[in-house]
Amino acid sequence: MITAVEIEAKAKELKSKGYPVVSLAIGEPDFPVHENIKKSINKAILENKNYYPNPQGVIELREAIAEYETKRKNIHINPDEILVTAGGKPVIFYTIFSLCNNDDEVILFEPYYLVYPYWCKVLNIKYHTIKLNEDGLIPKDQLLKHLNNKTRLLIINYPNNPQGSLMSKENLELLLEVLDKYPRIYILSDEVYSELVYEGEHISIFSYKKDRVILLESFSKTFCMTGLRLGYGIFPKEIIKSLVTFNSNLITGPTTPVQYGGITALKDNEVKNYVNFMREEFKKRRDFVYDKLKNFIKFKPKGAFYYFIEIPYDGLEFCNKALNEKFLALTPGSLFGDSFKNYVRISFANSIENLEEGLNRFLSLL
Ligand code: PMP
Repeated sequence: MITAVEIEAKAKELKSKGYPVVSLAIGEPDFPVHENIKKSINKAILENKNYYPNPQGVIELREAIAEYETKRKNIHINPDEILVTAGGKPVIFYTIFSLCNNDDEVILFEPYYLVYPYWCKVLNIKYHTIKLNEDGLIPKDQLLKHLNNKTRLLIINYPNNPQGSLMSKENLELLLEVLDKYPRIYILSDEVYSELVYEGEHISIFSYKKDRVILLESFSKTFCMTGLRLGYGIFPKEIIKSLVTFNSNLITGPTTPVQYGGITALKDNEVKNYVNFMREEFKKRRDFVYDKLKNFIKFKPKGAFYYFIEIPYDGLEFCNKALNEKFLALTPGSLFGDSFKNYVRISFANSIENLEEGLNRFLSLL
């Protein structure tokens, strides 16, 4: 199955050949990295901080993450619990790899981020999918039905990619009950969009049960650092040690200068204002798309930067046609689960001008 990054690469190739491509495919902020972050990375290079990093992550960065997350999650976090990674994606692999054996089962919720089933398949771990309801909430009866003594891991994602839903208090209570009742189960909480919430409250289960929840966070979306590849996982004590050794043997860590850029991202007040500015801009874009596509929208996203829309066609064929005939790149819904063959994902991490043009092409094709 092709990924959104691969669709984007194809769109860029067509653009480089002179075709008038508009891409609403990829989840990548169109804002530049803040100057202060760039300066810190440059400074680190000029100061010769170009050597192997600590395989768990540069200590000053882990201290900055611990302080930032302790404040946000309202629970004490220690730098020793953090593993710094090259973007958030490795945390998904590391979690499944370290927790699950071939007899274990994973539960995913549809629509899901396709990296979750990808790694389950590669590692030969059985997974069940449960369809979220229209508001993006976990149906209690379905979850209880799928749990058994082989269940090892639940992977949740709020705000959700691709529909921008948040976790409810009822779902939080349900998940806490599940953790109480099934002592083998861990939860991977993917919160890479947690700073991009436009309405409602982002609730994190990590704040309530840190010893059984892995927190996945990334600098990609919040700080527009997709290409700089920086993220982290906060892991329970019994897992983190072996993962540090694993990381050390695999890549050692993300590039050292970028880790210094990460410290500025988390601590600098101008960067903080920049994130607030971007959040407001994304909210305007979300509302702009809503006004244009009202008739097709069942759920208005509360966070992240995507609309997940049902269309009266096969999504994959529609996306191919959109790219080949209208030079419009979109992501087919089937990437997010088998139930979404007639869906497309539209990213609004793009300028109003591009959104206007892209949505006009989308509507004309529909
Ligand atoms: N989780 C979700 C839900 C995502 O949408 C993404 C990026 N598209 C990631 C994790 C990973 O992002 P990155 O590796 O760039 O940090």
